[in-house]
Parts: sequence; structure tokens; C-alpha cells
Amino acid sequence: MLKFTDEQIAFQEVPNEVSLAFTIAGCPLGCKGCHSSYSWHSEQGTRLSPDYLLHRLASYDGLISCVLFLGG
Ligand code: SF4
Repeated sequence: MLKFTDEQIAFQEVPNEVSLAFTIAGCPLGCKGCHSSYSWHSEQGTRLSPDYLLHRLASYDGLISCVLFLGG
């Protein structure tokens, strides 16, 4: 199951959208200058279960316009 290291409301990643953004742990690419290199280790973070995601979507109902999955 996916794990995430961060969850935040973001205004800049997608223009004109209010995004609920999850940084997914375990990205294997190792890009130079990665802004989330702290998330590379796959064993860290919180499980992103369907129930958790649905709970967060309900919490932000009417406040966000998209969901982002970064990293991973
Ligand atoms: S999280 Fe994005 S920038 Fe960082 S290593 Fe992975 S693909 Fe590259």
C-alpha cells in the first residue's frame, strides 16, 4: 500500500486549483535537486488507505478542487 510523508493544501502546483497534495514515499528515481529527497525511503510514512483518503476528501468537501500525488 502507498505511504505518504506529507499532506498539505497547495495553491501553486496546479494553476487555478486548490489541491490536496500527498507526497508519496519511496520514489526510486533519485533526481538531482529533488525537493522531497527526504521521502525517498519507502519504509517511512503513513499508509494512504482508501478509508483515509475518503475521510480527507469528506473533510475538505467544497474546499479543494483536485488531489495530487507527488513523488513516489
Ligand atoms: S520525487 Fe520527483 S523530483 Fe524527486 S526523485 Fe522522485 S521524480 Fe525526481
